[in-house]
Amino acid sequence: MANLYENLRQRLAQDRERLRQELAQMKASHVAMVESGSREGSAGEHLADSATDTSELETSLALQANLHKLLEDVDRALRKLDDGSYGTCESCGQPINPERLEAIPSAKLCISCKAQQERDERGTYLRR
Ligand SMILES: [Zn+2]
Repeated sequence: MANLYENLRQRLAQDRERLRQELAQMKASHVAMVESGSREGSAGEHLADSATDTSELETSLALQANLHKLLEDVDRALRKLDDGSYGTCESCGQPINPERLEAIPSAKLCISCKAQQERDERGTYLRR
């Protein structure tokens, strides 16, 4: 088990680096997009593109939010490796199947709680 966790820690650390770089790149290109869109004098030139630009900005924001969430999950998993709570389901406290951790090192819930959560989320969505 110690070897598995060491292996997962390395994968999580690599994921964290990769996600941080992707997020930084995306933020930089997002800023460039906003700046090119708001620059005076370019408005006329870019008028035809403005609808595309807006949806590109929205996509970029959604992707950033998604990356940020992934990064938080990875950070959290690394903290849990440090404090010894890694590999335990945050909902029911049961050990998470090592195969599941290998597939998703940042998993917070065991497979049955995850399935339950997805059912709940769908339920919440339907009740809205
Ligand atoms: Zn559970």
